[in-house]
Amino acid sequence: MQPLIDNARTFGQRPEEFARLAEGQSPQVLFITCSDSRVVPALITGARPGELFELRTAGNIVPPYASDRPTSEACTIEYAVEVLGVQDIVVCGHSHCGAVGALVRGDDLTAVPAVRDWLTHAADEPRSTDAADPAVAEAVQNHVLAQLLRLRSYPCVEQRLASGRLRLRGWYYEVHTGAVREHRADTDSFVSL
Ligand SMILES: [Zn+2]
Repeated sequence: MQPLIDNARTFGQRPEEFARLAEGQSPQVLFITCSDSRVVPALITGARPGELFELRTAGNIVPPYASDRPTSEACTIEYAVEVLGVQDIVVCGHSHCGAVGALVRGDDLTAVPAVRDWLTHAADEPRSTDAADPAVAEAVQNHVLAQLLRLRSYPCVEQRLASGRLRLRGWYYEVHTGAVREHRADTDSFVSL
């Protein structure tokens, strides 16, 4: 922890770089990814402060939309779309994802009931023909597509998609190589960016 504290202590010593951020934010992208520490959106994309609006959840799960039950995820998505007017939403899954791996392997999660209950939001076990793959690549990619479908059921997303003001993107990030692949609808496959 100490190196992180040391860095935080000196981080604010560039006032000219941050002064403009007081005027507001206008990120063009909502980036939804896993809480995994190996996934660092700003590092992957080179985004500067103010450029990426982020939503991080265990397993980059987008919970089902429920108008009668507020969730932090729905709040973040709605704010990004309706208030900030982001033009793109990226759902970025990653290799070696513990959450997706647990779903694919059917791990016993009774010791972590909150994790178990959250993962049930994923509803379907991600489709995979190779559950032995430690990267769970195929499962993560299918899982990303399932979350994109969930996103489409959010009213604000549905409306903006219908009017052509929003694009959805599915990414797959390899933590062990740094490579990023994007889902292409024409071939229904993930290919290098
Ligand atoms: Zn993960």
